[in-house]
Amino acid sequence: MEPLEKVSPQEFLAAGQTYLTERCKIDQGRIVCKACGTGIREFTVPVSVHFALPGFPDCTGSGQVRALPVPYCPTCEGEPRKRSSCIHIQ
Ligand SMILES: [Zn+2]
Ligand SMILES: [Zn+2]
Repeated sequence: MEPLEKVSPQEFLAAGQTYLTERCKIDQGRIVCKACGTGIREFTVPVSVHFALPGFPDCTGSGQVRALPVPYCPTCEGEPRKRSSCIHIQ
């Protein structure tokens, strides 16, 4: 999956959960892709966490950067194209 951006922390995590629930399954103790059976990998993306303040609509506020895992299937999707993301705290 591509990392979401400009979303709340809850939405970011929920998207990963939804991906794992809907697109993946457990096979012999490994998480694999439902469609092709390839092992799911994790891409660690730097996520800037900033406040969604009026007057900073374009992610210009400075924020803490966290590394968060994004799951993907190397066969169906390849590595995420987005190499960074951000989370907005309301
Ligand atoms: Zn942002
Ligand atoms: Zn796959």
